[in-house]
Amino acid sequence: MTGKVWLVGAGPGDQGLFTIKGLEVLQNAEVVVYDALIGDAVLSLIPDQAEAINVGKRAGNHRMTQEQINRTLLEQALAGKRVVRLKGGDPFLFGRGGEELELLAENDIPYEIVPGVTSAFAVPAYNGIPVTHRDFTSSVHIITGHRRSSGNTHSVGRAEVSRNLNAPGNAGSLSDPDGLGIDYEALVRTKGTLIFLMGLSTLPVIMRGLLDAGISPDTPAAVLERGTTAGQRRVLATVASLEEESGRAQIKAPAIIVVGEVCRLADTFAWVEKLPLGGKKILLTRPKELISGMAGRLRKMGAEVLEMPSIETVPIKPDPVLDECFKKDPDGSCEPWTRAGRIDWMVFTSPTGVRIFMDWFLSDHDIRALAGIRFAVIGEGSAKKLRQYGIRHDFMPTIYDGETLGRELAQKIRMERSGESGWSEEPKSPQTRVRVLIPRAAIGSRELVEELEKAGDIDILDIPTYTTEYVNRGIVDVREQIEKGEIHYAVFTSASTVRGFSAVMKDADLSRIKAICIGRQTRAAARAQGMETRMAEKATLDALLEAVVQCAAEDRT
Ligand code: SAH
Repeated sequence: MTGKVWLVGAGPGDQGLFTIKGLEVLQNAEVVVYDALIGDAVLSLIPDQAEAINVGKRAGNHRMTQEQINRTLLEQALAGKRVVRLKGGDPFLFGRGGEELELLAENDIPYEIVPGVTSAFAVPAYNGIPVTHRDFTSSVHIITGHRRSSGNTHSVGRAEVSRNLNAPGNAGSLSDPDGLGIDYEALVRTKGTLIFLMGLSTLPVIMRGLLDAGISPDTPAAVLERGTTAGQRRVLATVASLEEESGRAQIKAPAIIVVGEVCRLADTFAWVEKLPLGGKKILLTRPKELISGMAGRLRKMGAEVLEMPSIETVPIKPDPVLDECFKKDPDGSCEPWTRAGRIDWMVFTSPTGVRIFMDWFLSDHDIRALAGIRFAVIGEGSAKKLRQYGIRHDFMPTIYDGETLGRELAQKIRMERSGESGWSEEPKSPQTRVRVLIPRAAIGSRELVEELEKAGDIDILDIPTYTTEYVNRGIVDVREQIEKGEIHYAVFTSASTVRGFSAVMKDADLSRIKAICIGRQTRAAARAQGMETRMAEKATLDALLEAVVQCAAEDRT
């Protein structure tokens, strides 16, 4: 059976500007063929099981010719795949979307188009520039500032044009002296807003063309770099001074040029930088349970959020100690407190730990077999997860970290032993030793166990039930971004995540990012990797968010 191709606009960068339809289609894709200029956060939505093919072109480094791209789409569709062709902005605006459809149409491949938010309008909007305004202009024009190069043309007529352009000095014809094919006089006559895409390298030529066509040199003009991302920058000048100002600011592609009175409004209407986290790029590392909800809240405050997409929790099983603890009688019943050593306490140090244990346990046991065991959790997240399985925790420390959990739980156990506690229920059997089962991550912190041991007469079963594995798919080059200083903060919720993350980043210089951490162990692990750190007051999303906002406020001053 033939597959199908969806030509999807990814928007200008900000994940929130990716359409709902685009997202639905992407989540269903088996193959994703994507360009450069797709926002990282949109790329991280590519499903893990989809094959991701990068055909992005970076300056001077063509990964695939247009023809090869067209053929790839055809081949994948003929192989029966659901193919998403993900393109920056809107697929039909200077995106060669039309060319990519030709071969599909010829071969009767079904396709759909999902338009996208174009950078031509979104980037000015994110800089406080309305592309039209009744007081200034009644039309807007979008123009490409790109010179056609040879080799990418596919019809005779275009090939001829391209030969002209590649004549020495790009002389072009009389009516097209600079080879850009722009009718400057017509543009100037419209008195409309002019928006140039792909025009950064030809900016001087374009400004000259407009001036020669009689535009006032004082006409406001702007160049807007990497709009809608945390890296967005703008230079406001005039047609006469834009080249110099843009050069001074070292503006780099991707950037758009806007010419017209509306550029003046940026000073009044600019809004992104007023958001608490405007201009900040934040890396979120999983485990997902604690982090879900975090990305959305950070984005609402203006941050660009990159979720490290491929950190996986892998259960370790079976574990002989766990199996023994919860071994069933031949009649199918299972009473952990009468078996080889009863269990008095179970301690959970993460929501993931709760999930992994409970899913394992319930796959073969009845929940009532846990009756009589008391549950300690490290914090709110684990407590919430436990409640989802119908269990309320008996103990939570005052500060959400392993050391405090160990110390305060040990204290409680000691008090109960000496009869000081308010715990009314009689112990199941007279006992001196208390048994504590800790099913948790393979690289859990030592402090929890050390503190518990201080209570004396405690048997601790510290069981690794899962590992956190980092699979770097390489769709987003996080490492490169860290080295370039593009990622400002990274949020870590456990020491094991810090270590796993550092391992996958190999010898990257992590001193360039500030780690926002939950708990002292996490902070210590981040420090050990050379990161600057800040610790959230508590292990809650609110506290983490507060810490991020504080960092941003400090960095601004
Ligand atoms: N189809 C795309 C445009 C493709 S041409 C769209 O609708 O947006 C590529 C050009 O788009 C770049 O050279 C640059 O001029 C512009 N562009 C795309 N994303 C941009 C961004 N985030 N900030 C500034 N310019 C951008």
